[in-house]
Amino acid sequence: MDGTFILILAVIAIAVILLPRILPPRGPTCNRCDGTGFVNERWPDPSQPGGWHELEGKCPKCKGKGKLRS
Ligand SMILES: [Zn+2]
Repeated sequence: MDGTFILILAVIAIAVILLPRILPPRGPTCNRCDGTGFVNERWPDPSQPGGWHELEGKCPKCKGKGKLRS
């Protein structure tokens, strides 16, 4: 068995696994709505006892476009 053949297989395997992660689908993606343009988050609000901060609807950062340029 030639070691080069195994090396080529390893490189191809790594490329197939890493390429989708390296290349984004469509430019910079919003890290809040994950490209969907909509957010639905809830987290505890210390200022309001027993209350929850709700954020629903369109993303305030990308306004529904799903992209965020920094
Ligand atoms: Zn967004």
